[in-house]
Amino acid sequence: MNATVDSAAHAAAHAFRDYARATPAQRAQLLREIADGIERLGDALVTCVNRETALPAARITGERARTCMQLRLFADLAERDAWIDARLDPADAQRTPPKPQVRSRLRPLGPVAVFAASNFPLAFSVAGGDTAAALAVGCPVIVKAHPAHPDTAALVAEVIHAAVRKYALPPGVFSLVADSSREASVALVRHPAIMAGAFTGSLQGGMALWRAAQQRDEPIPFFAEMGSTNPVFLFPRALAHDAAGIAAGLHASMTLGVGQFCTQPGLIFLVDDAASRTFLDQLAVQVDASAPGAMLSPLICANYRHAVGALTLVPGVRTLARVDVAGHSADADDRLGGAALFATDADTFCAQRDLCEEVFGPASLAVLCKSPDDFARCAAKLPGQLTASIWSGGEPLGDDSDLLWTLEQKVGRIVFDGFPTGVEVGTAMMHGGPFPATTDSRFTSVGTRAIQRFVRPVAWQTPGNS
Ligand code: NAP
Repeated sequence: MNATVDSAAHAAAHAFRDYARATPAQRAQLLREIADGIERLGDALVTCVNRETALPAARITGERARTCMQLRLFADLAERDAWIDARLDPADAQRTPPKPQVRSRLRPLGPVAVFAASNFPLAFSVAGGDTAAALAVGCPVIVKAHPAHPDTAALVAEVIHAAVRKYALPPGVFSLVADSSREASVALVRHPAIMAGAFTGSLQGGMALWRAAQQRDEPIPFFAEMGSTNPVFLFPRALAHDAAGIAAGLHASMTLGVGQFCTQPGLIFLVDDAASRTFLDQLAVQVDASAPGAMLSPLICANYRHAVGALTLVPGVRTLARVDVAGHSADADDRLGGAALFATDADTFCAQRDLCEEVFGPASLAVLCKSPDDFARCAAKLPGQLTASIWSGGEPLGDDSDLLWTLEQKVGRIVFDGFPTGVEVGTAMMHGGPFPATTDSRFTSVGTRAIQRFVRPVAWQTPGNS
């Protein structure tokens, strides 16, 4: 047993009863104090995140604002107490047999293990969306720091510890596990005190931890968000209307943050005609002109370069643009990722499942189809996705659309006339999807519905004739 994990898990189990019974106002107060504390860190936090992740200051300040907004959104939710979904079936003593009274409401599951994400050092890490959702509903949290940004994790963890102390909550309400060994991750998921897990990262990592959660004597829910290729379907009508605007928007979406978003558009479906070929030429020029960017870690960059290199060797796949990082040498050399654009035909795509795999970085594969009707055939080959985007050129697809029906079975969020990057945090957002995008398509990791992962209904029944 890992001693750090064991002590954090016991502290969380010890804190659970008091924290679950804290008032809505107390939980809201804690979340708001964490948001205030993160803002008080000021430039020190931005400098630290930049040093560890190479993310630019503008992106970090934007992510910090989103992190604090999320914490305050969940504070509002906790305070209103509406999430408890209270229900009452009244008794009926006259009925034969007498009908009992049944009341129910949602209750917190217990201590939650959160795995910090490499690509969101603030918004999906120590005080990120998973932590905020769990704390809002009364679950203590243990965060496993991501090894790519340990100092950021420590800074934010100290803010949470200070907030817990300020309101005299039990210390086990929050712990950080800084141990970056795989053994610590598995020990955390397997610890009997842990009642749920939340993760953002690779398919391999997510599945390893999901298996550990299922192989426990008492299996627990483990919510892993593991990535997606986020297909974009471009109808001829849309390209006829604004090919240049769509090319610019798509280029910005595929290269945003050096492509290191789970919503990066990795697949583009078009009809094989002259307009599409002109469109791809325009897009290729923009991709070739993109400056390479420093990726989150040398390992992520090496994985990206390997995946792009492998795509160049696939029979039937053509390289339309590929930024060469040589000559852009800097001290971030082993982190520099250059954008790439590939193309293939629908038959090649449908025959090779590997082409559906996520390439984590600024690369996309265009798939040229015979007609718009061919889009649904390609969509049927896709594994589960977080998103799909449809540019239909202003004409609604209609309820009987094969493409729409197929995508509804495959994805969590369908974007019309837009691009998938930029996930709004709100009450209606769905950031999840069928496997392998996530381990459980019924839940979202973004927005207030994210609390549903960490609660369960409990009913209280009393006799109808009493
Ligand atoms: P990762 O390798 O999945 O790591 C995430 C967390 O899981 C880390 O704390 C890691 O700890 C732990 N972990 C990974 N494999 C494990 C295993 N077999 N057993 C126990 N713990 C394990 O993700 P990453 O480091 O962020 O990036 C690696 C790749 O993941 C990227 O190249 C990319 O392909 C993908 N990724 C996807 C998304 C997305 O949103 N789709 C986001 C981030 C990354 P250790 O590092 O200590 O092993």
